[in-house]
Amino acid sequence: MTQEIYALDLTYEEWVDLCTNRLGLPRYRADQICSWIYEKKVFSVHEMTNLPKDLREKLAYELHILPPISVREEKSKDGTRKFLWQLYDGERIESVLLSHGNHTTACLSSQVGCPLACAFCATGDSGYTRDLTAGEMTGQLLAMEKRLGTNINNVVFMGMGEPFLNSDALFKALSILHSPKMRNMGARHITISTSGIVPGILRLAESGLPVRLSVSLHAPNDALRSRLMPVNRRFALAALMKALSVYQEKTGERITFEYVMIQRVNDEPEHAYELAALLSGMDAYINLIPYNPVSDLFQRSETERIKAFSAILTRLNIENEIRKEKGTDIDAACGQLRRRESGK
Ligand code: SAH
Ligand code: SF4
Repeated sequence: MTQEIYALDLTYEEWVDLCTNRLGLPRYRADQICSWIYEKKVFSVHEMTNLPKDLREKLAYELHILPPISVREEKSKDGTRKFLWQLYDGERIESVLLSHGNHTTACLSSQVGCPLACAFCATGDSGYTRDLTAGEMTGQLLAMEKRLGTNINNVVFMGMGEPFLNSDALFKALSILHSPKMRNMGARHITISTSGIVPGILRLAESGLPVRLSVSLHAPNDALRSRLMPVNRRFALAALMKALSVYQEKTGERITFEYVMIQRVNDEPEHAYELAALLSGMDAYINLIPYNPVSDLFQRSETERIKAFSAILTRLNIENEIRKEKGTDIDAACGQLRRRESGK
Protein backbone atom coordinates (compact mmCIF):
# COMPACT_ATOMS: atom_id res chain seq x y z
CA MET A 1 0.00 0.00 0.00
CA THR A 2 1.54 3.29 -1.04
CA GLN A 3 0.25 6.77 -0.46
CA GLU A 4 -3.36 5.82 -0.78
CA ILE A 5 -4.66 8.47 1.58
CA TYR A 6 -4.97 12.08 0.45
CA ALA A 7 -4.34 13.64 3.85
CA LEU A 8 -6.00 16.98 3.10
CA ASP A 9 -9.34 15.18 2.65
CA LEU A 10 -9.38 14.01 6.29
CA THR A 11 -11.57 15.68 8.90
CA TYR A 12 -10.29 15.89 12.48
CA GLU A 13 -12.35 12.84 13.49
CA GLU A 14 -10.83 10.92 10.58
CA TRP A 15 -7.32 11.92 11.65
CA VAL A 16 -8.00 10.67 15.18
CA ASP A 17 -9.43 7.44 13.79
CA LEU A 18 -6.45 6.94 11.47
CA CYS A 19 -3.89 7.58 14.20
CA THR A 20 -5.49 5.66 17.05
CA ASN A 21 -7.26 2.75 15.31
CA ARG A 22 -5.26 2.14 12.19
CA LEU A 23 -1.75 3.18 13.17
CA GLY A 24 -1.99 2.42 16.92
CA LEU A 25 -0.68 5.86 17.88
CA PRO A 26 -1.69 8.09 20.78
CA ARG A 27 -4.36 10.66 19.94
CA TYR A 28 -2.02 13.61 20.32
CA ARG A 29 -0.19 12.54 17.17
CA ALA A 30 -3.29 13.58 15.21
CA ASP A 31 -3.13 17.03 16.84
CA GLN A 32 0.58 17.34 16.04
CA ILE A 33 0.16 16.43 12.37
CA CYS A 34 -2.84 18.77 11.95
CA SER A 35 -0.87 21.58 13.54
CA TRP A 36 1.99 21.05 11.04
CA ILE A 37 -0.37 21.11 8.10
CA TYR A 38 -2.94 23.74 9.07
CA GLU A 39 -0.89 26.12 11.27
CA LYS A 40 2.64 25.77 9.92
CA LYS A 41 1.72 24.84 6.32
CA VAL A 42 4.23 22.01 6.27
CA PHE A 43 3.21 19.46 3.66
CA SER A 44 6.10 17.01 3.94
CA VAL A 45 6.04 14.53 6.82
CA HIS A 46 9.84 14.48 6.76
CA GLU A 47 9.78 18.05 8.09
CA MET A 48 7.44 17.20 10.99
CA THR A 49 10.30 17.14 13.43
CA ASN A 50 8.37 16.27 16.60
CA LEU A 51 7.34 12.91 15.13
CA PRO A 52 9.70 9.93 15.60
CA LYS A 53 11.73 9.18 12.49
CA ASP A 54 10.27 5.73 11.93
CA LEU A 55 6.75 7.17 12.14
CA ARG A 56 7.64 9.85 9.60
CA GLU A 57 8.84 7.17 7.20
CA LYS A 58 5.71 5.12 7.70
CA LEU A 59 3.46 8.16 7.19
CA ALA A 60 5.38 9.25 4.09
CA TYR A 61 4.60 5.85 2.65
CA GLU A 62 0.88 5.98 3.38
CA LEU A 63 -0.11 9.62 3.01
CA HIS A 64 0.26 12.29 0.43
CA ILE A 65 -0.39 15.81 1.58
CA LEU A 66 0.48 18.08 -1.30
CA PRO A 67 -2.00 20.90 -2.02
CA PRO A 68 -2.68 21.89 -5.65
CA ILE A 69 0.48 22.90 -7.55
CA SER A 70 0.76 26.48 -8.80
CA VAL A 71 1.16 26.70 -12.59
CA ARG A 72 0.61 30.40 -12.95
CA GLU A 73 0.24 33.42 -10.72
CA GLU A 74 -0.77 36.92 -11.75
CA LYS A 75 -0.91 40.09 -9.74
CA SER A 76 -3.22 42.93 -10.64
CA LYS A 77 -2.42 46.62 -10.19
CA ASP A 78 -4.99 46.77 -7.39
CA GLY A 79 -3.29 43.92 -5.50
CA THR A 80 -5.71 41.17 -6.54
CA ARG A 81 -3.84 37.97 -7.21
CA LYS A 82 -4.97 35.11 -9.29
CA PHE A 83 -3.65 31.56 -9.11
CA LEU A 84 -3.99 28.78 -11.63
CA TRP A 85 -3.51 25.36 -10.02
CA GLN A 86 -2.90 21.92 -11.41
CA LEU A 87 -4.48 18.92 -9.68
CA TYR A 88 -3.09 15.37 -9.46
CA ASP A 89 -4.91 14.34 -12.65
CA GLY A 90 -3.74 17.36 -14.66
CA GLU A 91 -7.02 19.28 -14.34
CA ARG A 92 -6.75 23.01 -13.73
CA ILE A 93 -8.68 25.29 -11.40
CA GLU A 94 -8.40 28.90 -10.27
CA SER A 95 -8.39 30.82 -7.00
CA VAL A 96 -8.36 34.55 -6.45
CA LEU A 97 -6.91 36.44 -3.51
CA LEU A 98 -8.49 39.81 -2.76
CA SER A 99 -7.00 42.36 -0.38
CA HIS A 100 -8.94 45.13 1.26
CA GLY A 101 -6.97 46.99 3.93
CA ASN A 102 -5.79 44.46 6.52
CA HIS A 103 -8.30 41.92 5.32
CA THR A 104 -7.60 39.21 2.82
CA THR A 105 -10.18 36.98 1.20
CA ALA A 106 -9.49 33.77 -0.68
CA CYS A 107 -11.97 32.94 -3.42
CA LEU A 108 -11.94 29.15 -3.86
CA SER A 109 -13.19 26.83 -6.60
CA SER A 110 -15.48 23.91 -5.78
CA GLN A 111 -15.61 22.05 -9.12
CA VAL A 112 -13.53 21.72 -12.27
CA GLY A 113 -15.83 23.76 -14.51
CA CYS A 114 -19.55 23.98 -13.77
CA PRO A 115 -22.56 22.15 -15.24
CA LEU A 116 -25.03 25.02 -14.79
CA ALA A 117 -24.13 27.00 -17.91
CA CYS A 118 -25.22 30.49 -16.87
CA ALA A 119 -25.32 32.61 -20.02
CA PHE A 120 -22.89 35.26 -18.76
CA CYS A 121 -20.26 33.04 -17.10
CA ALA A 122 -16.91 31.90 -18.50
CA THR A 123 -16.80 28.85 -16.21
CA GLY A 124 -20.25 27.71 -17.31
CA ASP A 125 -19.15 28.18 -20.89
CA SER A 126 -16.23 25.75 -20.49
CA GLY A 127 -18.47 22.91 -19.29
CA TYR A 128 -18.07 20.57 -16.32
CA THR A 129 -15.33 18.01 -15.76
CA ARG A 130 -15.50 16.81 -12.15
CA ASP A 131 -16.09 17.71 -8.51
CA LEU A 132 -13.22 18.73 -6.27
CA THR A 133 -12.52 16.77 -3.12
CA ALA A 134 -12.64 18.53 0.26
CA GLY A 135 -8.85 18.65 0.37
CA GLU A 136 -8.61 20.12 -3.11
CA MET A 137 -10.85 22.97 -1.90
CA THR A 138 -9.06 23.66 1.40
CA GLY A 139 -5.72 22.96 -0.33
CA GLN A 140 -6.19 26.09 -2.47
CA LEU A 141 -6.30 28.15 0.73
CA LEU A 142 -3.31 26.37 2.29
CA ALA A 143 -1.21 26.80 -0.85
CA MET A 144 -1.98 30.54 -0.97
CA GLU A 145 -1.21 30.91 2.74
CA LYS A 146 2.09 29.12 2.30
CA ARG A 147 2.90 31.33 -0.66
CA LEU A 148 2.08 34.53 1.30
CA GLY A 149 3.73 33.35 4.52
CA THR A 150 0.66 34.47 6.47
CA ASN A 151 -2.90 33.40 7.20
CA ILE A 152 -5.80 34.63 5.09
CA ASN A 153 -8.78 35.99 7.08
CA ASN A 154 -11.76 35.04 4.96
CA VAL A 155 -12.86 32.37 2.51
CA VAL A 156 -15.55 32.62 -0.15
CA PHE A 157 -16.61 29.66 -2.30
CA MET A 158 -17.07 31.88 -5.29
CA GLY A 159 -14.53 30.52 -7.76
CA MET A 160 -15.26 27.94 -10.42
CA GLY A 161 -18.18 25.61 -9.85
CA GLU A 162 -21.40 25.43 -7.89
CA PRO A 163 -20.51 24.51 -4.29
CA PHE A 164 -23.96 23.04 -3.50
CA LEU A 165 -23.70 20.59 -6.40
CA ASN A 166 -20.72 19.15 -4.51
CA SER A 167 -22.25 19.29 -1.05
CA ASP A 168 -20.67 16.28 0.68
CA ALA A 169 -17.14 17.47 -0.11
CA LEU A 170 -18.13 21.07 0.63
CA PHE A 171 -19.44 20.26 4.12
CA LYS A 172 -16.30 18.26 4.80
CA ALA A 173 -14.22 21.26 3.70
CA LEU A 174 -16.28 23.50 6.03
CA SER A 175 -15.54 21.14 8.92
CA ILE A 176 -11.81 21.14 8.11
CA LEU A 177 -11.70 24.95 7.91
CA HIS A 178 -13.79 25.43 11.04
CA SER A 179 -12.38 22.75 13.41
CA PRO A 180 -10.29 24.31 16.23
CA LYS A 181 -7.71 21.52 15.80
CA MET A 182 -7.41 22.20 12.08
CA ARG A 183 -7.62 25.54 10.28
CA ASN A 184 -9.68 27.05 13.15
CA MET A 185 -11.46 29.61 10.99
CA GLY A 186 -14.65 31.18 12.35
CA ALA A 187 -17.80 30.15 10.46
CA ARG A 188 -18.70 33.82 9.96
CA HIS A 189 -15.46 34.22 7.99
CA ILE A 190 -16.68 31.67 5.44
CA THR A 191 -19.16 32.50 2.67
CA ILE A 192 -20.78 30.16 0.18
CA SER A 193 -21.88 31.66 -3.11
CA THR A 194 -24.70 29.72 -4.75
CA SER A 195 -26.75 30.00 -7.89
CA GLY A 196 -29.71 28.95 -5.74
CA ILE A 197 -29.57 25.17 -5.15
CA VAL A 198 -32.42 24.75 -2.66
CA PRO A 199 -31.39 21.44 -1.01
CA GLY A 200 -27.90 22.86 -0.37
CA ILE A 201 -29.29 25.99 1.25
CA LEU A 202 -31.54 23.90 3.49
CA ARG A 203 -28.66 21.60 4.43
CA LEU A 204 -26.59 24.62 5.45
CA ALA A 205 -29.52 25.96 7.51
CA GLU A 206 -29.83 22.54 9.23
CA SER A 207 -26.09 22.34 9.94
CA GLY A 208 -26.41 25.14 12.49
CA LEU A 209 -23.12 26.64 11.26
CA PRO A 210 -23.35 30.44 10.88
CA VAL A 211 -21.61 30.22 7.51
CA ARG A 212 -22.63 33.18 5.36
CA LEU A 213 -24.59 32.87 2.19
CA SER A 214 -24.29 34.83 -1.00
CA VAL A 215 -26.95 34.20 -3.64
CA SER A 216 -26.32 34.88 -7.31
CA LEU A 217 -29.69 36.32 -8.26
CA HIS A 218 -29.08 38.43 -11.39
CA ALA A 219 -32.78 38.75 -12.25
CA PRO A 220 -35.93 39.62 -10.28
CA ASN A 221 -38.41 37.34 -12.10
CA ASP A 222 -38.50 33.73 -13.28
CA ALA A 223 -38.70 34.43 -17.01
CA LEU A 224 -35.54 36.52 -17.12
CA ARG A 225 -33.71 34.46 -14.54
CA SER A 226 -34.38 31.20 -16.41
CA ARG A 227 -32.97 32.82 -19.53
CA LEU A 228 -29.76 33.90 -17.80
CA MET A 229 -29.48 30.98 -15.37
CA PRO A 230 -30.98 27.67 -16.56
CA VAL A 231 -30.82 26.38 -12.95
CA ASN A 232 -33.85 28.59 -12.27
CA ARG A 233 -35.98 26.08 -14.19
CA ARG A 234 -35.19 23.53 -11.51
CA PHE A 235 -35.37 25.86 -8.50
CA ALA A 236 -37.64 28.78 -9.30
CA LEU A 237 -37.64 32.03 -7.33
CA ALA A 238 -40.53 31.13 -5.00
CA ALA A 239 -38.78 27.93 -3.83
CA LEU A 240 -35.46 29.75 -3.55
CA MET A 241 -36.90 32.58 -1.46
CA LYS A 242 -38.62 30.08 0.83
CA ALA A 243 -35.36 28.20 1.44
CA LEU A 244 -33.57 31.48 2.13
CA SER A 245 -36.12 32.46 4.75
CA VAL A 246 -35.54 29.09 6.48
CA TYR A 247 -31.78 29.78 6.44
CA GLN A 248 -32.32 33.28 7.82
CA GLU A 249 -34.64 32.02 10.56
CA LYS A 250 -32.12 29.38 11.67
CA THR A 251 -28.96 31.47 11.52
CA GLY A 252 -30.12 35.08 11.91
CA GLU A 253 -27.55 35.95 9.25
CA ARG A 254 -28.03 38.64 6.65
CA ILE A 255 -28.01 37.32 3.07
CA THR A 256 -26.00 38.94 0.30
CA PHE A 257 -27.42 38.92 -3.22
CA GLU A 258 -25.15 39.24 -6.23
CA TYR A 259 -26.63 41.04 -9.20
CA VAL A 260 -24.47 41.28 -12.33
CA MET A 261 -25.43 44.41 -14.26
CA ILE A 262 -25.90 43.60 -17.95
CA GLN A 263 -26.76 46.43 -20.31
CA ARG A 264 -30.47 46.51 -21.26
CA VAL A 265 -30.96 42.94 -20.09
CA ASN A 266 -31.55 43.18 -16.33
CA ASP A 267 -30.76 46.83 -15.55
CA GLU A 268 -34.03 48.65 -16.32
CA PRO A 269 -35.79 50.67 -13.58
CA GLU A 270 -38.67 48.11 -13.60
CA HIS A 271 -36.16 45.43 -12.66
CA ALA A 272 -35.03 47.48 -9.67
CA TYR A 273 -38.65 47.87 -8.47
CA GLU A 274 -39.30 44.18 -8.96
CA LEU A 275 -36.09 43.29 -7.11
CA ALA A 276 -37.01 45.52 -4.16
CA ALA A 277 -40.44 43.86 -3.95
CA LEU A 278 -38.90 40.38 -4.08
CA LEU A 279 -36.52 41.11 -1.21
CA SER A 280 -38.77 43.24 0.96
CA GLY A 281 -39.04 41.91 4.51
CA MET A 282 -35.74 40.05 4.22
CA ASP A 283 -32.47 41.09 5.84
CA ALA A 284 -30.70 41.48 2.52
CA TYR A 285 -27.76 43.27 1.00
CA ILE A 286 -27.29 43.61 -2.75
CA ASN A 287 -23.98 43.78 -4.54
CA LEU A 288 -24.40 45.36 -7.95
CA ILE A 289 -21.55 44.00 -10.05
CA PRO A 290 -20.61 45.50 -13.40
CA TYR A 291 -20.69 42.58 -15.84
CA ASN A 292 -17.23 41.42 -16.79
CA PRO A 293 -17.48 40.88 -20.55
CA VAL A 294 -16.62 37.28 -21.45
CA SER A 295 -18.61 37.01 -24.69
CA ASP A 296 -20.08 39.27 -27.34
CA LEU A 297 -23.61 38.40 -26.26
CA PHE A 298 -23.76 40.91 -23.45
CA GLN A 299 -22.35 44.32 -22.57
CA ARG A 300 -21.66 45.82 -19.20
CA SER A 301 -24.28 48.35 -18.04
CA GLU A 302 -23.23 51.94 -18.37
CA THR A 303 -22.21 53.50 -15.07
CA GLU A 304 -25.15 55.92 -15.13
CA ARG A 305 -27.60 53.05 -15.47
CA ILE A 306 -26.00 51.21 -12.54
CA LYS A 307 -26.20 54.36 -10.42
CA ALA A 308 -29.87 54.90 -11.30
CA PHE A 309 -30.64 51.24 -10.46
CA SER A 310 -28.84 51.56 -7.14
CA ALA A 311 -30.69 54.80 -6.30
CA ILE A 312 -34.09 53.14 -6.78
CA LEU A 313 -33.13 50.31 -4.44
CA THR A 314 -31.83 52.76 -1.85
CA ARG A 315 -35.04 54.78 -2.05
CA LEU A 316 -36.98 51.57 -1.38
CA ASN A 317 -34.80 50.83 1.67
CA ILE A 318 -32.88 47.96 0.10
CA GLU A 319 -29.25 48.25 1.11
CA ASN A 320 -26.93 47.94 -1.83
CA GLU A 321 -23.48 48.72 -3.06
CA ILE A 322 -21.95 49.13 -6.48
CA ARG A 323 -19.04 46.73 -6.35
CA LYS A 324 -15.71 48.13 -7.38
CA GLU A 325 -14.17 45.97 -10.02
CA LYS A 326 -11.12 44.09 -8.95
CA GLY A 327 -8.46 42.52 -11.05
CA THR A 328 -10.03 43.25 -14.45
CA ASP A 329 -6.56 43.57 -15.93
CA ILE A 330 -5.76 39.95 -15.03
CA ASP A 331 -9.13 38.45 -16.00
CA ALA A 332 -10.11 37.83 -12.39
CA ALA A 333 -13.71 36.89 -13.19
CA CYS A 334 -14.37 33.27 -12.52
CA GLY A 335 -13.19 30.87 -15.22
CA GLN A 336 -11.43 33.43 -17.36
CA LEU A 337 -7.80 32.61 -16.69
CA ARG A 338 -8.20 28.88 -17.22
CA ARG A 339 -10.06 29.57 -20.43
CA ARG A 340 -7.31 31.82 -21.72
CA GLU A 341 -4.63 29.27 -20.79
CA SER A 342 -6.38 26.37 -22.47
CA GLY A 343 -7.53 28.38 -25.47
CA LYS A 344 -11.16 27.30 -24.83
N1 SAH B 1 -21.63 28.95 -8.86
C1 SAH B 1 -21.67 29.86 -7.79
C2 SAH B 1 -20.31 30.39 -7.38
C3 SAH B 1 -19.32 30.68 -8.47
S1 SAH B 1 -19.73 31.99 -9.59
C4 SAH B 1 -22.58 31.02 -8.11
O1 SAH B 1 -23.06 31.11 -9.24
O2 SAH B 1 -22.87 31.79 -7.20
C5 SAH B 1 -19.23 33.40 -8.65
C6 SAH B 1 -19.92 34.68 -9.00
O3 SAH B 1 -19.38 35.24 -10.22
C7 SAH B 1 -21.42 34.54 -9.21
O4 SAH B 1 -22.13 35.55 -8.52
C8 SAH B 1 -21.51 34.71 -10.71
O5 SAH B 1 -22.79 35.09 -11.07
C9 SAH B 1 -20.45 35.74 -10.99
N2 SAH B 1 -20.07 35.87 -12.40
C10 SAH B 1 -19.98 34.88 -13.31
N3 SAH B 1 -19.62 35.39 -14.51
C11 SAH B 1 -19.49 36.73 -14.36
C12 SAH B 1 -19.13 37.79 -15.22
N4 SAH B 1 -18.85 37.57 -16.50
N5 SAH B 1 -19.12 39.05 -14.73
C13 SAH B 1 -19.39 39.27 -13.42
N6 SAH B 1 -19.71 38.31 -12.55
C14 SAH B 1 -19.77 37.04 -13.01
FE1 SF4 C 1 -21.79 27.87 -12.57
FE2 SF4 C 1 -21.87 30.01 -10.93
FE3 SF4 C 1 -20.86 30.22 -13.44
FE4 SF4 C 1 -23.48 29.85 -13.11
S1 SF4 C 1 -22.27 31.63 -12.42
S2 SF4 C 1 -22.16 28.75 -14.59
S3 SF4 C 1 -23.54 28.53 -11.32
S4 SF4 C 1 -20.02 29.00 -11.77
